[in-house]
Amino acid sequence: MIKQSTITEIFESSKIEDVVGDFVNLKKRGVNLLGLCPFHGEKTPSFTVSPAKNIYKCFGCGVGGNPVNFIMEHEGLTYPEALRYLAKKYNIAIEESETTDEQRQEKQLYDSLYLVNDFAQKYYEQQLFETERGKKIALSYFKERGFREETIRKFGLGYAPEKGNTFTLYAVNKGYKQDTLQKAGLTTSRGRDFFRDRVQFTIHNLTGKVVGFGGRILVKNVKAPKYLNTPESEIYNKSKILYGAYFAKRAIRSQDECIMVEGYTDVLSLHQSGIENVVASSGTSLTVDQIRLVKRYTPNIKIIYDGDPAGVKAALRGLDLVLEQDMNVRVVLLPQGEDPDSYLQKVGATAFREFIDKNASDFILFKTNLLLDEAKGDPIKKANLIKDIVGSIAKIPDPLKRSVYIRECANRLEIGEDVLVQTTNKLKMEHIRKQQKQEERDRRQAQRNRTTTPPDESWPDAPPSDFPSEIPPDLEHGFPSDEPDDSSFPPTRETRSAPPAVDASSKVIVGDEFQEKDIVRLLMSFGEEEMEEGISVAQYILINVEEVLEAFDHSFYKKIVQDCLEMLKAKTPITQKHFLQSPDQEVSKLAATLLTTPYEYSKNWEEKLMNPLQTQPMPEKNYKKDTVIAVNRIKLRKVNKLLNENQSKIKALQEQGGDAMDMIKQIKVQQKLLQIREEIANLLGTRGAIK
Ligand SMILES: [Zn+2]
Repeated sequence: MIKQSTITEIFESSKIEDVVGDFVNLKKRGVNLLGLCPFHGEKTPSFTVSPAKNIYKCFGCGVGGNPVNFIMEHEGLTYPEALRYLAKKYNIAIEESETTDEQRQEKQLYDSLYLVNDFAQKYYEQQLFETERGKKIALSYFKERGFREETIRKFGLGYAPEKGNTFTLYAVNKGYKQDTLQKAGLTTSRGRDFFRDRVQFTIHNLTGKVVGFGGRILVKNVKAPKYLNTPESEIYNKSKILYGAYFAKRAIRSQDECIMVEGYTDVLSLHQSGIENVVASSGTSLTVDQIRLVKRYTPNIKIIYDGDPAGVKAALRGLDLVLEQDMNVRVVLLPQGEDPDSYLQKVGATAFREFIDKNASDFILFKTNLLLDEAKGDPIKKANLIKDIVGSIAKIPDPLKRSVYIRECANRLEIGEDVLVQTTNKLKMEHIRKQQKQEERDRRQAQRNRTTTPPDESWPDAPPSDFPSEIPPDLEHGFPSDEPDDSSFPPTRETRSAPPAVDASSKVIVGDEFQEKDIVRLLMSFGEEEMEEGISVAQYILINVEEVLEAFDHSFYKKIVQDCLEMLKAKTPITQKHFLQSPDQEVSKLAATLLTTPYEYSKNWEEKLMNPLQTQPMPEKNYKKDTVIAVNRIKLRKVNKLLNENQSKIKALQEQGGDAMDMIKQIKVQQKLLQIREEIANLLGTRGAIK
């Protein structure tokens, strides 16, 4: 583990404008810097860097964070990897602290696996260039395919020798443990080499470390499979790796598109000819993890298929999950009998590029045409085809896109648009219903977990139906001062599980999300400021909110407030920096997001209701008033919940003809709660509106 003092030094030294500036062209705009967002495609810059706060924030897609967050997201690194990256950039010596035995062992295993893979890669490369058979069989194969030496070296190609345990013996001789060789999948349990007499394609992870190999056999007429991949290991998970991604990521981002092919050699050929934004799923059908990996860099995928319609049809089935991830998928079918490698050799890079640009067609329309061709004149096949297509369309999260597809497909299928709309809606409803059921189950589970606390402290999950929700949800969304995009909200458990199929405009608000988030925002933004003489905003909030903290709906916000309470008790100052530099990525990103938004949400919603055109004053000027309102509002909501719960208790007692003392007790509680509510409402001066 990296020592806290080193981490602090890294944070203190890292300048957001330098760190981002290595990847994004930034221009000065007032006190901030502005550039094109590297995380989503855009033509007008909305990616803002604040040197004063040492954070970035995109007003287009909502991402935000500190220098470490940026490096993690941009380079696909883990937290410690990002810290090491920055330490290197700023010449900071890393001091490690003592770790537990378990952590040390795990790290040792990972390190040893990376090490032995790296060793194997160098060995295979040496076998390729320096041995008789390597040169004769493997190198000539690569040369025949037109790979230049620089390409072979760059991608770490190699040759695994023929004889049963040549590599294993050599490695053991050099001090590598047989156990480690086995764990890395380089040696079989019987002590033989896993790869024998094969050309070796090295598989790198996103940071360029060797995690495995793909070996292709060259000698004909053997029973062995043509391709052999490293078995899954602690560092190699096939479904999470895309071949070539390490070499392609920059080009993918700069061209805002990822080209996907099937084979290793396709990647190499395209890359060598200057088409560098290319990756391969290496034999497996696409997985959600692989798509998410691409999505980090671009929403646009172009998939190139060999010119073999039967194979394509099978591959298309797996593509719906790409749609679910809201990616733009285009498909290119090469001429009959060609693969990307062969076709590129045949026509050259320029013609190849032209071909794929010209022939890329939208996935759904491509699928429609392909299946339609096959179903010609067969009504049963056509009915199935419609179901199939509609199934794909229903997976698209964006309603606008969906309606465009429906129109287009109705046209091609020669059926009424309304039929397609109906079927799509039916499927969507099923989808949503399924998700709601799941959510309901999760909620009940959470409730069950909570009933372990005394009944008086348990709270109903949703606001009671007879209490009007404080702010009409559609109004809350409609305010121009709202966050520009839903995705800028921290991925709380709730928003994460919100059905992706629902229109983007209808964000799911669960419980008191807005109120709780606002409390966190005030703590983060103004915690240190003075509220009253000798009392900070943080103190004021925490003293007041502590009594209703148990009733927070959102565990994420609750946890933040709880941590602040601990800090308050330990007399640790609650500063912006504390949140911005939190080792918890969710916290630091939330802080960056909340601290860069000039207008968070509408605190003075009552005024806005009366006068929607009124310009909002900067929240900085209002924090005292905001704090009072936010604190009282959240208390009011929680008291309302308590009241409602108490009321049902009284009702139950009445119905059961329960004990009179119990009844009196509950009525007293009721009176007390009503009194508290009255007080808060008076403080807020908005009794009618809020209640
Ligand atoms: Zn963005």
